[in-house]
Amino acid sequence: MRRSIFSLALNALTGHRLWRPTWRDAVPKPEYDVIIIGGGGHGLATAHYLANVFGIQRVAVLEKSWIGSGNAGRNTTIIRSNYLLPGNNAFYELSMKLWEGLEQELNYNAMVSQRGIVNLYHSDAQRDAYARRGNSMRLHGVDAELLDRDQVRAMVPFLDFDNARFPVKGGLLQRRAGTARHDAVVWGYAAAASRRGVDIVQNCEVTGFIRNGDAVVGVETTRGSIRAPKIAMAVAGNSSRVAALAGLRLPIESHVLQAFVSEAVKPLIPGVVTFGAGHFYVSQSDKGGLVFGGDIDGYNSYAQRGNLPVVEDVAEGGMALMPMIGRIRLLRSWGGIMDMSMDGSPIIDRSPLPGLYLNAGWCYGGFKAIPGSGFCFAHLIAKGEPHPTAAALRLDRFERGYLLDEKGQGAQPNLH
Ligand SMILES: Cc1cc2nc3c(=O)[nH]c(=O)nc-3n(C[C@H](O)[C@H](O)[C@H](O)COP(=O)(O)OP(=O)(O)OC[C@H]3O[C@@H](n4cnc5c(N)ncnc54)[C@H](O)[C@@H]3O)c2cc1C
Repeated sequence: MRRSIFSLALNALTGHRLWRPTWRDAVPKPEYDVIIIGGGGHGLATAHYLANVFGIQRVAVLEKSWIGSGNAGRNTTIIRSNYLLPGNNAFYELSMKLWEGLEQELNYNAMVSQRGIVNLYHSDAQRDAYARRGNSMRLHGVDAELLDRDQVRAMVPFLDFDNARFPVKGGLLQRRAGTARHDAVVWGYAAAASRRGVDIVQNCEVTGFIRNGDAVVGVETTRGSIRAPKIAMAVAGNSSRVAALAGLRLPIESHVLQAFVSEAVKPLIPGVVTFGAGHFYVSQSDKGGLVFGGDIDGYNSYAQRGNLPVVEDVAEGGMALMPMIGRIRLLRSWGGIMDMSMDGSPIIDRSPLPGLYLNAGWCYGGFKAIPGSGFCFAHLIAKGEPHPTAAALRLDRFERGYLLDEKGQGAQPNLH
């Protein structure tokens, strides 16, 4: 049902008994035009754009658990488009622009909050690298400002500016970056897709592919066989497992990434702050909790939980940056499975098997990409050719040597 000032007022006056479920929990049909595997942000966004922009409504999203139970509901909610390389920056900026109109488009409050992100630099060399990144962003029409130490101090005065090892010398600011409420993004896309007739099928795990020669023409699931001429994978941390069901080996490793939320405190951090001398980033939720994270756990896993050494490592990063964080109590922590690609950039492409499409390799950063990825993946599925802004995100770039190595770290997932 649509939300408006009138529906809010009507429900307020009638005891909130008129609200309808946000989306239909569908029973799978035997056949569709497109099957999307994975009810995370990317799968649901793809379904929304297929149905609402590209006019393909016989679509099913098959989710093995409940929608948003994967990384979409586990991430630290940062959205930004502060990328360096052509191939990445236009794509993430498209996503940023879609975030900016998302709530009106979906008729759903996703709590998109453009509160800004500051990437701190701690040395002259790092300042030069951030100046280069900022210039590249501005050349591509993305907002970027290089801040000196005093400008950063005015924004976030509680940082340890004179830390003996990692003094804060300034930062790269993107004001249009920020946060969004992760599960509301899932619900918003589900609602908009469901309104157009997309079947969202929960508790439906894809266990195999139905083949006609090389072509993929359907899926076997825990709720029976379902056929479609086009099948799209958007299973994030499970990409290598699901691809293996079709006999494919992807340039992707699955790793655990943990996140942490503290007890609620009064407003402290205006936007998102990232430490440049270690892996630590922090923002504050609207409820007051500090939301922070750091490195992946550093071993391959499909378990959605992490281990204590990384908890300690993240806490050390936090203490080096803002020592007063040592006084705060941790409320919750959890883990998600990251689909780490070998150059740190994603893949939106056809697979080598006719009928099977790939959306994977989102590493740490797939939440911010949800609108752009959904739009470009839907474009590829509907029109049979890549959207121009996602044209570089091809699977064969690893074979051809055209890597999108944003951080210049090489094929080392633990460094991306
Ligand atoms: C702790 C943490 C912090 C993060 N922080 C950020 C951040 O601040 N900013 C940012 O941009 N990104 C962040 N990310 C990354 C981001 O969350 C992911 O890249 C993104 O959510 C992945 O896409 P998705 O939402 O589609 O994935 P998911 O939500 O994982 O969706 C994939 C779905 O596929 C389903 N599935 C798997 N196998 C099958 C099968 N066989 N059959 C049917 N369904 C199946 C899963 O159950 C799952 O629901 C973070 C991730 C984590 C874990």
